[in-house]
Order: sequence, then structure tokens, then C-alpha cells
Amino acid sequence: MPYRAPISDYELLFRHVVGFDKIAATEKFSEASEDVVSAILTEAGKMCEEVMAPLQRPGDLEPARLENGVLRTSPGYADGWKAIAEGGWVGMSGDPEYGGMGLPIALTTAVNEMMSAACLSLQLAPLMSQGQIEALEHHASDELKALYLPKLISGEWAGTMNLTEPQAGSDVGALTSKAEANGDGTYAVTGQKIFISWGDNDFTQNVCHLVLARLPDGVPGTKGISLFLVPKYLPDEDGNPGVANDLKVVSLEHKMGLHGSPTCVMQYDGAKGWLVGKEHGGMAAMFTMMNNARLGVGGQGVGAAEGAYQHALAYALERKQGKTPSGTIIDHADVRRMLMGMRADTFAARAIMLANAAAIDMANATGDSEWSARAALLTPICKVFGTEAGMRVSETGVQVHGGMGFIEETGAAQYYRDVRVTAIYEGTNGIQAMDLVARKMMDGGEAASRLLDEIEDHAEQARATLPDLAGPVWEATESLRETTEWFVAQSDMNTRFAGAVPYLHAFARVLGAHYHLKAAQAEPKGPRFKLARYYINALLPEYAGLLAQAQNGADDLYALSAEELVA
Ligand SMILES: Cc1cc2nc3c(=O)[nH]c(=O)nc-3n(C[C@H](O)[C@H](O)[C@H](O)COP(=O)(O)OP(=O)(O)OC[C@H]3O[C@@H](n4cnc5c(N)ncnc54)[C@H](O)[C@@H]3O)c2cc1C
Repeated sequence: MPYRAPISDYELLFRHVVGFDKIAATEKFSEASEDVVSAILTEAGKMCEEVMAPLQRPGDLEPARLENGVLRTSPGYADGWKAIAEGGWVGMSGDPEYGGMGLPIALTTAVNEMMSAACLSLQLAPLMSQGQIEALEHHASDELKALYLPKLISGEWAGTMNLTEPQAGSDVGALTSKAEANGDGTYAVTGQKIFISWGDNDFTQNVCHLVLARLPDGVPGTKGISLFLVPKYLPDEDGNPGVANDLKVVSLEHKMGLHGSPTCVMQYDGAKGWLVGKEHGGMAAMFTMMNNARLGVGGQGVGAAEGAYQHALAYALERKQGKTPSGTIIDHADVRRMLMGMRADTFAARAIMLANAAAIDMANATGDSEWSARAALLTPICKVFGTEAGMRVSETGVQVHGGMGFIEETGAAQYYRDVRVTAIYEGTNGIQAMDLVARKMMDGGEAASRLLDEIEDHAEQARATLPDLAGPVWEATESLRETTEWFVAQSDMNTRFAGAVPYLHAFARVLGAHYHLKAAQAEPKGPRFKLARYYINALLPEYAGLLAQAQNGADDLYALSAEELVA
């Protein structure tokens, strides 16, 4: 079934759930009126349906390849990139001074999700560029900005991020790539990076790498790392791609999915680079890119979930098996359970993602630290719940297809294979959950508590019209508050870390219920209400088990020694 962009979901979420009117009321985003938003979503949706979705399967069947050191992308990807670039979708939120549209991140996030649903492998390319654009806007010198930003924003050039090395994965501080000053304001960067998404392509004039490396006086660990902009071709005097830099793609990784996205081993041999941010301040600069990417990766999960749901629904509407009123499997209760769960989870994950993006926009537009704290709190939840929804929904999508789900030609399995990595890259989901219960609770749980207050206030107010839905949301929130206070009181960090993942999932369940309740209020007699009722009755109750698990502590986890685990 061809992909259909879920425009009405975004419109409802923007209007009634995540408070886009607040964003549009700020001076910074005053041009993002409802009409503009609708026009943008419709236009982007059309591009995703007509240009990107047809590239999903060819990318899986004919992965990117390296031919004598030259990278060849999957069939049609060059045209896909052209459509993305010419539509202005790379630089939607880029600074207008450098050719961007200056639109809210919430809108970019919705468009990114649609692109992910249509073709995840190709969507990763603009996502990498967007992160780089944001990092350069915040941390690069004016000269670098003037030279690079217009080309990145227009899509003439593409961007990548280079953190990972064989011995430095989650532990980025263990990296050994080096940089030395050339004496003319540039640096020579040397080292090998692995797993670099879109490390090269055959459709942009240049590829700009943001590379983490250590200067000779950099201390060990993350504090001694600096960030460098290292282009594939050195810009000439006119800013056009000139001579080739001393870097190359050594090989491509063979992956379980995401075949259309070349994942490269990169070698830098004294490649010329320019410092971004301060010496030894690389992690702070890279964090700008990583936070953007975490929201984006959460959105990739949501997109994959939407694509997988639409695919499974189409199959269920056609597959005849057993005696049912319609003759097809869609009338079996268990198939309904799967489809309702897929749809309800996708909506919840989308709402969390847009709420996260909206908080970033409000923080950018107002400078209000409460909005920044809200955005920081929601980022790991969005990343983990979005990607897990992507995995859960696409895995259920395979099940809806029965045996045909296991057969590649139906395309159901591709959603699962492609989305699986989203729980791993951009900070594994386990590490994201640890971030939630450690760094994001360094305020004594204040940001979390403010959000829980809002959810409870809203549930109280909704009791008048939707008591059966509002009551369980209020109770779940109260339990989540008690557990949050328990976490804040734990001084032993391993106790917190042991319960981090179930705690995050419970938080996401409650948030999802809150946003479903808002949607039900907006359309109390329609399908939104029915979907919210299913989510609140059938999925929200998971929170109780998750919160119990979250408070179980670490002792049981270490009860078996490593030797006993082996025995
Ligand atoms: C397809 C793909 C694309 C990628 N793209 C990029 C890219 O563009 N740029 C880039 O720089 N990198 C990229 N990566 C790398 C990716 O970010 C890393 O794989 C990821 O950070 C995990 O590192 P690792 O693979 O070394 O796993 P490890 O760090 O070895 O982790 C193994 C396991 O241990 C857990 N673990 C590790 N440390 C801790 C800890 N302190 N506490 C608790 N648990 C822990 C992890 O959660 C995981 O479950 C990509 C990876 C893939 C597969």
C-alpha cells in the first residue's frame, strides 16, 4: 500500500495537543501561521508520498556500494536528495541569514517523521546535515558560517558526524583521533572513525565531516576533546570545492537493515580541518548536534511505526482467513488488538516527539529556562519511546502479515530491520534512560514535577467531561510522581540506573495517556476518543508493573556473579 502522510494527525496535535499557537505567538515564529503550517505539511507530505516512498524498497535491494573507492548510492537516491534539497526541507529551521526558512523545529520534526516513514535510509542524510547546520550556527566562527551554512542549508553540500571509533563507542572519551595545529589557523586531523552514516555520497558537490579529535594538550576523557570541520574537498578562494582533502572511505559496514544508507569506515590522514567552538570544548559543541539528532532519531522511530502500521492495515483489509463478517482478518479480535496497539502507540510517540520539539522552539523563542528544562527532560523520553514504538509496531506489523511477514517481498520485515538501529545509535536507549534518572534529575526532580503538575491539572479539568479517561490518567501520574521522588532520594546511582529503563517507559506511558486525553477532548465523539480510550484502558495500566520494576534496585541484577551467568 502506498504511504499516506498523516497530515490530519499533525494538524490535530499542533492545534489541540502540543500548543503550537504559543509558538506562533512568539515574535521569532510569527510567520508560522496555521495556513503556512498546513501548506508546508501538505507539500512535504506529497514529496514523501510521490518521491521518497518509491525509494524504500530499491535501497533495501541495492545497497550503497564502494567501487574502487568511489561511493555509489542506491538507485534513485540522487533524485530523492534533489527533491529534498530543492523543496527546502534540509534547511527548514536554518537561519534565514544563511538561506534557511527559520521555521519552528516542531514543523521540521513533523516533516522529518514523514520522510522517515517514506524512506528511512535516505532520510538519515538530511537529518545529519540538519544537526551539522545547528552545531555550526551555535559554535562556528563567522567565516565558517558564511562559507558552509548556505551550501549545507541548500543541500548543495551534505554533513556528517564522526564520533565513534572501534574502542570508543558509548564511551566517546576513549577516542584516539588526533589533531595538530598547522600554524595557519587550520589543523591536521588523523585517525579512523567507524559507523559513519552517509560518510560519502555521489549526489552532493562536497561532504562536510564534523570530527571529534584530541589536540596534543587535550586531557584524557571527554574534557580533552575538540571538534573540527573537515570537508571532503577543500573550498577554493571562491568557496567552491577545490582539491581533495586527505581523507577517504575505507569500507562500508554490512548491516541488518538501513541498506540504502552507507555506513562508512572513515580514514583521516592529516586531513585539513577547522576548529568549531573552543579548543577542548568539542563535546559541548557536538552536544548541540547530538540533541538535535536524538529528537530526530525518536522521529525516525515514529515514522517507521507509521509506515509499518499503514502496511499492516492494508494487508489486514485484504487477507481472507477464517469466517468473519467482512471475510478478512481485520475482524479477528487479536488482529484488532495488534492494529489498535500499533495506532495508539504511534500517536502517543508522535505526540511526545512534537511536545519535545515544541519545548525546544519555546526555549529558543523566549529564552525561558523552564522551557529548556522541559526540552531536556523530554529528549531521552522521545528518543527511547519513539524508537521502541518503531520497533514494537514494526515487529507487530510482521505478525499481522502472518507467514508473509517473514517473506521479504511484502516489505513488512524491512521496517523492522531498518528501524532496529535507532535504539542503538545516538546514545543507546539504555544510556538515554540513565540520562533521564541522573542528569535530568540534577534539579531534584523539579522539571519532572512541573510536568506532572500540568498533567494532573489537566486530568482534573477533563474529569468533568471524560471522567472514565481522566481518572486513570490522574492516578497513574500520582504513582509516577511518587516513584520520581523515590528516584531523586536514591544517592546510589547504580540503584537509579538499574531502574532507569522501566521508569522511562512508565513516564512515556503516562505522557502518552495525557496527550491521548487531550486529543479525546478535542474530538469527544470521534475516532480520537475511541483510540484514547483504548490506550488508557489497555496500554496505560502497564505503568504499574513498570514502576514496581523501576524501584527493584540493583541487588537482584548482580545476584548472579559473571561466572554464574556463564555456568
Ligand atoms: C547503522 C549505524 C549508524 C551509525 N552512525 C553513526 C554516525 O553517523 N556517527 C557516529 O559517530 N557513530 C555512528 N554510529 C555508532 C553508534 O552511535 C554506536 O554504535 C553507539 O553509540 C553504541 O556504541 P557501540 O556500538 O560501541 O556499543 P557499546 O558502547 O560497546 O555498547 C554495548 C552495550 O553496552 C551498553 N553500555 C555501554 N556503556 C554503558 C554504560 N556506561 N552504562 C550502561 N550500559 C552501557 C550499551 O547500552 C550497549 O547495550 C552508528 C552505528 C550504526 C550501527
